[in-house]
Amino acid sequence: MSSSTNSVSSLAVATLGTPRIGPRRELKLALESFWSGATDEQALIETGIGLRAANWARQKKLGVTVIPSNDFSFYDQVLDTAVMVGAIPDVYGWKGGPVSLATYFAMARGANGGAHDESCGHAHHAHGVPALEMTKWFDTNYHYMVPELSRDQRFALASRKPIEEYEEAKALGYQTRPVLIGPVTFLKLAKSKETGFEPLSLLDRLLPVYVEVLRELAGRGAEWVQLDEPCLVLDLDVSAQKALQQAYAAFAKEVPQIRIMLAGYFGALGNNRDTAFALPVAGLHLDLVRAPEQLEDVAKLADDCVISLGVIDGRNIWRADLTGVLDRIEPVIAMLGKERVQIAPSCSLLHVPIDLGLETKLDPEVSSWLAFAIQKIEELATLATALGSGREHAAQALKASDAAASARKTSSRIHDPKVAQRLSSIDDGMRRRTSAFRQRAAAQHQRFKLPSFPTTTIGSFPQTPEIRKARAAHSKGELSDAGYKIFLQNQTKRAVRWQETIGLDVLVHGEFERNDMVQYFGEQLSGFVFTENGWVQSYGSRYVRPPILFGDVSRPLPMTVEWWRYAQSLTEKPMKAMLTGPVTILNWSFVRNDIPRSEACRQIALAMRDEVADLEAAGAGMIQIDEAALREGLPLRKSEWQAYLDWAVDSFRICSSGVRDETQIHTHMCYSEFNDIIDAIGAMDADVISIETSRSKMELLDAFRNYRYPNEIGPGVYDIHSPRIPEIAEMTELLKLARQQLSDGQLWINPDCGLKTRKWEEVRPALANMVAAARELRELA
Ligand code: GLN
Ligand code: ZN
Repeated sequence: MSSSTNSVSSLAVATLGTPRIGPRRELKLALESFWSGATDEQALIETGIGLRAANWARQKKLGVTVIPSNDFSFYDQVLDTAVMVGAIPDVYGWKGGPVSLATYFAMARGANGGAHDESCGHAHHAHGVPALEMTKWFDTNYHYMVPELSRDQRFALASRKPIEEYEEAKALGYQTRPVLIGPVTFLKLAKSKETGFEPLSLLDRLLPVYVEVLRELAGRGAEWVQLDEPCLVLDLDVSAQKALQQAYAAFAKEVPQIRIMLAGYFGALGNNRDTAFALPVAGLHLDLVRAPEQLEDVAKLADDCVISLGVIDGRNIWRADLTGVLDRIEPVIAMLGKERVQIAPSCSLLHVPIDLGLETKLDPEVSSWLAFAIQKIEELATLATALGSGREHAAQALKASDAAASARKTSSRIHDPKVAQRLSSIDDGMRRRTSAFRQRAAAQHQRFKLPSFPTTTIGSFPQTPEIRKARAAHSKGELSDAGYKIFLQNQTKRAVRWQETIGLDVLVHGEFERNDMVQYFGEQLSGFVFTENGWVQSYGSRYVRPPILFGDVSRPLPMTVEWWRYAQSLTEKPMKAMLTGPVTILNWSFVRNDIPRSEACRQIALAMRDEVADLEAAGAGMIQIDEAALREGLPLRKSEWQAYLDWAVDSFRICSSGVRDETQIHTHMCYSEFNDIIDAIGAMDADVISIETSRSKMELLDAFRNYRYPNEIGPGVYDIHSPRIPEIAEMTELLKLARQQLSDGQLWINPDCGLKTRKWEEVRPALANMVAAARELRELA
């Protein structure tokens, strides 16, 4: 299959980047052991060397001809870039010279002790130096560290990592193509704490460092360098397009000996296409999975430009239909000439698990439709062979791919006629509550008779080591089902009693039985499978195993009713039931690619609607449907936002509208930017929404006031990301601010989010203070 036999020629195969965590999460283990002090720096460095060597060897063996280097990172590639160019905020105390691992990890995770400048703005870190902020990398679930730049920022080459890793590979016999984040994307992702200052204005100062790196690489023998500019798929203004022109013109002039492969991915170049195509680079990579129509554009490229065809999905776990891909790209390659073409995944393989071969328990049928990073590289090699020497030289692999594709189209495991039938019978009545909010609110107030400013929490209570231990014992079979259930009931009972003692108004059961807010539901819905080793990096040493949504979704049995019923049996106070919403379940899973996301989402909405109905029938008067991931699902291009919001809101309404007036629907969103989606939030028409506001000092309530949001709101008054225990006065202060924006009748009092990551020692006094703050407010009002 690969090019190991000389008679078979193949096209160039690139990977753009590969997972760095190791097949058995070796990087996580090494990092955490280093951070805990159990192992030293040398051990960590050696783990890195081993992982890189294994990665290069594996790619070479599988037929990759354009092998990347510098795609490895101990924590994050954006952080690496910030360190490379010396963009290290003063608070980390770097005085020039090589950047120590201690400084690097302080930027990544914060550090205890040392000077902490209170004015740094990171109010949520009580001691030591705070970590840089973290946010999502484009529309993936990978999070990068946000570089912080100042108006008088100076750059200097402070880390030689790209050069060292290039040489490391070379010493092992690999000529690699080093990967760098491009200067424009780097600046676009950076932020400044000063107002009225654009990081992009620092381009002139930044470029010399990049030139230096490119020169050094060239000097050591590098022929190509891959510069990733995923900002090319965003809505760029003219200044950003000009910055691209300036940067790449500078590289062409200053380092003509280096050939640059410019990579734009995560979507279409769109209105940046002409800019990108005119840049003086030796190669251009296009994402042809998200934006297959770009294939028609390649004829417009300069005829000495190498084209990297991103045809294998780097973002999802499905096996490709290789014959279909060949049918599409063969004519284009015939036109361009083979020497101008490279075959690649749509983006770095960082975003998929490493090896399907490590899965021993996956349903074999579902498994036959999947490809993880290693299988995707095999697919690339198959394509390259078929394109280089003819399809007959890859006949076996193509046949297997065809068989998988056709099995998947027709499998009864995927296609459930009952689900299709239900989907087509959704009507407007199912999307609308019986009465308008005012009338529902009256019925609900009548029913619950809550005091003004009612207090509640978002759902989860601390997941203690004890709970984790019991869960692990249960899954290993060391703790029986019955024993585990009693254990969880005791946890729940204690939590309910305690909530009563401190005087919360609306109680929760604590979510002790849930391993994860999506997985818990996915495991009980049909249409999902779970992996044993399908880890992908979320940030730093935190990896997740996203559920795989492979088929039509239905809900065979109630999922939460028993736990709700048990918890409610312990108290006279209202017990709020907890569900994860359809949009969040979708956005945190690997999603099927054979139907639109909107359709998959509506299927989940119908299944969750059944759960809502069963909870109501069991007597639940308040049902919270969390949509933590609604905002992060927004498309990268503004022009696509409305369509997304429309089906996201529609799904929420399908899921939540089947209940009577006196049943109160809550939703929760743990983020703080609502200005641009407030219409959608309004359209969801939940009776109560809880949001994250404590850190923004209630500023974000502006959006709700300006919109005249009519329903009830619980703006978070307790920052659950911090171990700090908020004082009563701090919370009453925040609530005073909230009262300036909202009417008293609208206000609920709750923390920013669930408390699962906190300790009981923190949660107990914090929530007692919160209840006290509510009481003060009631006396004042
Ligand atoms: N109900 C969930 C919890 O409290 C909500 C978590 C979230 O929004 N991320 O844990
Ligand atoms: Zn939350």
